[in-house]
Amino acid sequence: MIIAGLQKFSLIDYPGKICAIIFTRGCNFRCQYCHNPELVIPEKYAPSIPISKIYEFLESRRGKLDAISITGGEPTQHIDLIEMLEKIKNMGFLTKLDTNGSRPETLEKIISRKLVDYFAMDIKTSIKDYSRIAGHSVDSEKIRKSINLIMNSGSDYEFRTTIVKSLTSKEDLREIARSINGAKNYFLQKFIPTKLNDPDLMKETSYSDKELNELTLELMAYVKYCAVR
Ligand code: SF4
Repeated sequence: MIIAGLQKFSLIDYPGKICAIIFTRGCNFRCQYCHNPELVIPEKYAPSIPISKIYEFLESRRGKLDAISITGGEPTQHIDLIEMLEKIKNMGFLTKLDTNGSRPETLEKIISRKLVDYFAMDIKTSIKDYSRIAGHSVDSEKIRKSINLIMNSGSDYEFRTTIVKSLTSKEDLREIARSINGAKNYFLQKFIPTKLNDPDLMKETSYSDKELNELTLELMAYVKYCAVR
């Protein structure tokens, strides 16, 4: 595992729980709107944190935090993710995993061992058009497989899409909702330009609040719950 960030406290990352967030370094996607270049672009990588320091911190928070969230980058590209999840579960924490869904084979192992209590998977755009947003050739069957695995995992989960108006059409969002038909939770995330992989996107916007609220009502025809973040 290469860990490049630790947020010691969050009230908003794991729904209804107090958690800490571990940031893994490295990602196989290059989304233009990514706001974590220090976790994604090798030339901008943040220094790593020794894993022993992470476990020391976790030990000190036993009984004080409800949950540990692992995000990236893309955590599933680290072969020792499973070992880390096992250790965190054995310490008595709930676990949340953020993923781009590109490695269903890893998700399958995690799910069969019941190592994650809450999955959050990004759905970048309509599945047939994935590579356009991911900035990388994506096997769309793997994305479909990850969606199905998570929906049938027995764990809590959410799907979510970051919406840049020029990159994400309303029809893309309808197409995404159809591909996760019956899902428990789907969140539309307003794009907010901060530090980005692609500085050309700094002037981009998302849809208006009114448009997004109308979309959530429409997409509720496919998913059990849809909201704007
Ligand atoms: S948004 Fe997520 S999947 Fe895309 S490049 Fe950034 S970390 Fe990777």
